[in-house]
Amino acid sequence: MRISLNVMEEHLDNQNTNANRTFAHQFFIPKGVPSKNVRFLIKDLSDVMAFRTHTVTRISKKGKQYFQEVSCLGDGCPLCDYAFKTDGKASSSYARDKIVIPLIDFDYVDSEGNKTPTISYWVRSSNFYRNVLALYVSKFKGLLDGYVEVNKTGTGVNTTYSLFPASGDDLPKLKSVDEYLKDFDVNMEEDLKSIIYELNAEQMNRLIPHESNEVEVPFEEAPKRRVSTHGF
Ligand SMILES: [Zn+2]
Repeated sequence: MRISLNVMEEHLDNQNTNANRTFAHQFFIPKGVPSKNVRFLIKDLSDVMAFRTHTVTRISKKGKQYFQEVSCLGDGCPLCDYAFKTDGKASSSYARDKIVIPLIDFDYVDSEGNKTPTISYWVRSSNFYRNVLALYVSKFKGLLDGYVEVNKTGTGVNTTYSLFPASGDDLPKLKSVDEYLKDFDVNMEEDLKSIIYELNAEQMNRLIPHESNEVEVPFEEAPKRRVSTHGF
C-alpha cells in the first residue's frame, strides 16, 4: 500500500523506540560467587509481587540458552496446552506461581568489570517465598530494613539461598526504600514488562515449536540491559 511520508516517519520513530528499548536486570549470583549484598526494595512481605507464569526456554541469536517468564493466560492458555502435551519437559514449563523481588544489587559487575550498584529483579518460586524469605524475615527482625547478604550454595536445581543481615560496613550509607526508588529512577511497571512477558495467545503460539515452523521469533532478541547507577 502507498503511505504518506508522515506515516513513514512515524514508522521510523517507532523502530528507533524499539531499538532503544531497554530491559531490566534479572538478579542472579554468577558461578563461583558465594554471596552478594543487596537491599530489598520492599518494606514488608506484602510488597512482594506474585505472578503465575510459564518458564520458556529460549535460544539467543548467539546460540545461548536463556529462560523467559511468560505470564499464564489461564483458561485456554496455549502454553498450558503445550506443557500438558509435552509433560512440561519441552520448551515451556507448566504454569507456576512465582514471586518477583525488586532489589539493589551492590555486587553487580558491569560489562567493563566495574562493581556498579544496579536495580535488579529476583524471580523465585512460591516455595522460596514461604521457606526462605518469610522464614528469614521472621528469624531476623528488621531484615528488610537494611542490607541483606544473599548466600548461594549448590548448583543447578540444587541451588539454595540463605539470607542474613549484612553489616554494610563496606557499603554506601543506607537509604530508605523510597530514596533508592527515586535515586535509581525506578519505573517498576515498565521494568516488569521485561521480567514477566505479557503475551497474547497468538504470540504464545509463535513461541511453541510446530512441525512447520521449528524456529520461533516472537519478540526482540538480545536484551539490552538498563544500567541505572544514580546516586553513587
Ligand atoms: Zn498457561
